[in-house]
Amino acid sequence: CGIVGYIGFRESQPILIEGLKKLEYRGYDSAGIAVHTERGLEVTKAVGRLVNLENRLTGDPLCGTIGIGHTRWATHGKPSDANSHPHTDNSLKFSVVHNGIIENYLELKEELMLAGHRFLSETDTEVISHLIAVEYEGDIVKAVQKAVRKMRGAFALGVLTEHEPDRLVAVRYASPLIIGVGEGEKFIASDIPAILEYTRDIYILEDGEMAVLTRDGVELLTVEGNPVAKEVFRVNWDL
Ligand code: GLU
Repeated sequence: CGIVGYIGFRESQPILIEGLKKLEYRGYDSAGIAVHTERGLEVTKAVGRLVNLENRLTGDPLCGTIGIGHTRWATHGKPSDANSHPHTDNSLKFSVVHNGIIENYLELKEELMLAGHRFLSETDTEVISHLIAVEYEGDIVKAVQKAVRKMRGAFALGVLTEHEPDRLVAVRYASPLIIGVGEGEKFIASDIPAILEYTRDIYILEDGEMAVLTRDGVELLTVEGNPVAKEVFRVNWDL
């Protein structure tokens, strides 16, 4: 299971796919990406090997310079197209990739269903995109913070919203996540090899920390909203 994310000036799809390939060693049963295209936030996913996702994208590539990608190791819900990440909310404006487990997802899902939300997968992850959509009042960072407060378990998250096409939000809580800092481009990944081709300057997130990525910078803070000061770690080894 693995996460990658990109915001910058290049096409994101090839960077996401190559990054996911570098994370293959972690194991997976399905894969998917979400990209901000001209048409909005678009998702393509496929059960099985990465080549299945690539084949699907060949005929219909997702063009755009900000995106998130995921390889899934199913914990809740069988490996299937529908259960693959990224997951969205009913408005299709919020997209989430997740590694880990949301322990209280059933009670969260029940509450959301009573409020009229429709679920398209059997995953624990899908509640996250719905929670973020519910909490959204114009600031994706605040919405993610509020949603995270309701969740118990382990998670590394990458979050995009169509409402804010120039920000990518990442959260780490008991699942690994790093941030890559390039010139005019930024990355998230479960592990360094996924992005080493593009940058050697990384931040290693600790539990309870989040990052807000724009093309020009990275803001680090706690999920409570307090700023975090951290040195860039320079990777001095090669693959
Ligand atoms: N628990 C989530 C799922 O089953 C994420 C699994 C993972 O870490 O890949 O969809």
